[in-house]
Amino acid sequence: MSVICRDLFGEPIAAAAALRKERRRRKVGYADKPGSGPKGKRCGNCKHCSVVVHRGQRSKKCDLMAHAWTHSDETDIHPQAPACKQWERRPFSPAKHSP
Ligand code: SF4
Repeated sequence: MSVICRDLFGEPIAAAAALRKERRRRKVGYADKPGSGPKGKRCGNCKHCSVVVHRGQRSKKCDLMAHAWTHSDETDIHPQAPACKQWERRPFSPAKHSP
């Protein structure tokens, strides 16, 4: 059984799942068009890709789009998505490579 939520004026409100799907389709979390960046690079290894913890849920978001973050549990960007034009190499981490 599905329940249709209505707003104050009786208009149906889109279900949360439909909103999430629409958001994914529009690719709103990316700073630029995915695939427009350097070949072979991914969002996951970009300097701007960050993990945000909200109410115990970890989600990946692009720092450059912080002004558009909704603070939802949803992941805005996919780490495997091809890099956009704003892609930047992560800084070298000496801790990872020390003997
Ligand atoms: S490649 Fe980097 S700058 Fe572009 S959307 Fe992904 S995380 Fe953001």
